[in-house]
Amino acid sequence: MGAEIIDGRKVATEVKDALISRIEILRARGVTPGLAAVLVGDDPASATYVRGKAKACDKLGIYSEVITRPAGFQQSELIELVRQLNRNEKIHGILVQSPLPPHMDELAVTLTIDLAKDVDGFHPHNVGMLLIGRGELIPCTPHGIIKLLEYYHLDPSGKEVVVVGRSNIVGKPVAALLVQKSPIGNATVTIAHSRSADLPSITKRADIVIAAVGRANTITADMIKEGAVVIDVGINRIEDATRKRGYRLAGDVDYDGCALKASYITPVPGGVGPMTIAMLMANTVKAAELISAG
Ligand code: NDP
Repeated sequence: MGAEIIDGRKVATEVKDALISRIEILRARGVTPGLAAVLVGDDPASATYVRGKAKACDKLGIYSEVITRPAGFQQSELIELVRQLNRNEKIHGILVQSPLPPHMDELAVTLTIDLAKDVDGFHPHNVGMLLIGRGELIPCTPHGIIKLLEYYHLDPSGKEVVVVGRSNIVGKPVAALLVQKSPIGNATVTIAHSRSADLPSITKRADIVIAAVGRANTITADMIKEGAVVIDVGINRIEDATRKRGYRLAGDVDYDGCALKASYITPVPGGVGPMTIAMLMANTVKAAELISAG
């Protein structure tokens, strides 16, 4: 029997719909939530993500500004731009699209973002709050994964979860959320990475596998156990001459193989990706609520 497909588009739509009444309440108080997305350089994937985020804002009636700067933009200029956005009353959320050009120190830029406007949840203060279970602005992709598990009643409590990937934006925060003493938490979490020995023996233990690697086909059917829940975070561009744009998107998981063995699986596209945008919208609304409440 094949796996049930976790429909990220459907859940994302519900998350965004639930924001509409909160946005209306804010508007009635004279506050329009506002998001600024800063894009430095000409990475095509980053440009696509930023466009998607701005489009989601438009649909919800969230004010948005997309600020693009050339790859040669200096770090000091970017920090000054972020400071201006910190002061800008129309803006409640600031995101600086990663990756930044190699001459920039991402942490220095993140540290400049006003904590209350850190809708990506990457500022070390917000990361620390998440770790102690008091996070307000939770990183969007990990939070989106939690929402998917919640929606499909896939309670991780007492389960073995293996997160493959230890990045600060996906792997570590999703592991931190799943280990919390909280409704969609209480899991026994293992984080694997490129130095992990014998990855298949680790992933085979998992009731829930979360792949955040950035390499297609890292997780194959022989690496998961029968009935596992498979969450695929990866977005990889695979050259494909049959497609008009010359590539197709693939996750980190061998979808066709794993779908035959898993109980639930996220597709790429249409799984975790839409949730990331939905949770960004949710964080922007939350930031506007918190800032406007003083
Ligand atoms: P990073 O490159 O920051 O981290 C990748 C992680 O995978 C690292 O910890 C790395 O290990 C580990 N890794 C690499 N190769 C292997 C391997 N062969 N076996 C085990 N672990 C390995 O990536 P991100 O976390 O930023 O992103 C991961 C993927 O998710 C990307 O495809 C990205 O595009 C996608 N993404 C999708 C989002 C969405 O909304 N769907 C949002 C954010 C990211 P090590 O630390 O040892 O190098």
